[in-house]
Amino acid sequence: MTAIKPQPGIMDIALYVGGKSHVDGVTNVVKLSSNENPFGPSPAAQEAVKRSVHELHRYPSTDHRALRDAIGEVHGVDPERVICGVGSDEIITFLCQAYAGPGTEVVYTEHGFAMYRISALAAGATPVEVRERERVTDVDAILAGCTDRTRLVFIANPNNPTGTMIGLAEVERLAEGLPEQCLLVLDGAYAEYVEGYDGGAKLVEHRDNVVMTRTFSKLYGLGGLRVGWGYGPKDVIDVLNRVRGPFNLSGTALAAAEAAVRDTTFVEKCRSENTRLRGWMAEALAEHGVPSDTSTANFVLARFADQEEAEACDLYLQKQGLIVRRVAGYNLPHCLRITVGDEPSCRQIAHYVGLFKAGAR
Ligand code: PMP
Repeated sequence: MTAIKPQPGIMDIALYVGGKSHVDGVTNVVKLSSNENPFGPSPAAQEAVKRSVHELHRYPSTDHRALRDAIGEVHGVDPERVICGVGSDEIITFLCQAYAGPGTEVVYTEHGFAMYRISALAAGATPVEVRERERVTDVDAILAGCTDRTRLVFIANPNNPTGTMIGLAEVERLAEGLPEQCLLVLDGAYAEYVEGYDGGAKLVEHRDNVVMTRTFSKLYGLGGLRVGWGYGPKDVIDVLNRVRGPFNLSGTALAAAEAAVRDTTFVEKCRSENTRLRGWMAEALAEHGVPSDTSTANFVLARFADQEEAEACDLYLQKQGLIVRRVAGYNLPHCLRITVGDEPSCRQIAHYVGLFKAGAR
């Protein structure tokens, strides 16, 4: 064992536990634990991946020009203010590396995404967790949690794992009230699921303290290729590009993401199916005595009587080959987060949760 000690804060990082993908002794599982797109990636993205194999001996683009232009065209944003990363996780990491550090604070909410704390600690900053109000982001609590040492505030809108979101007027009130040296990071990993929502892009355009992050891992179905992007003030993007490795994204990932963002027909289909099935599943679970908050994302946070019941239901679903997500690590021990799958898997979830609530074990 080495005597060399890691930097302060590193050993406070709990190892990230991702969604399960198999159950011992059960074949043909349905994985509803990582908020992936049940329809897979767009056919256009799959074709782009196949074409990209002929270029595997080449280093990829360093400036991601083609992907940034495609994002700019489709999302109506300025490509000069876009940065691409290895998932939006990497954009979160860049933000902490560049703006946080020893002596500074990073604020996020009690049911906020795990990477905010991990990246803050990895950068040597102090993580500060503030309360939510009934599983909804509380702007007043965040503002009260900020000090003159706060450099970054992270909120996901919609939030994971609650599925709730706050309106843009509330987001703007938050941005307006932040201390001078502090950036608001608006994590839009699930923004595509909200019809007519720009993830906060317009807000980025008229404020100098807001950065939006987005991902190709959810609605675009490219979680396996790891592509995300950030949109922010030009000088912030310039700062983030200085900590970015020159070849952070593979040519295959860049090609797939470019094709995916342009395939708006596929995006529309996935969004509307998600909305339909999410509503159906939430209602069916509620009829079985399992309520949830109105979700705006591609999952439902199902609430049980207590942790014991949530865990028993999880084990029962696993026996049926259905893998959902425990969220005790997000201060929600009595809940299970269930990704909205395709129609058969939503029906199976409703069916087996119903049997569980009727006493099956
Ligand atoms: N933000 C939120 C709120 C998420 O739920 C996730 C994925 N679980 C991410 C960011 C990171 O996604 P990725 O790195 O795959 O883009």
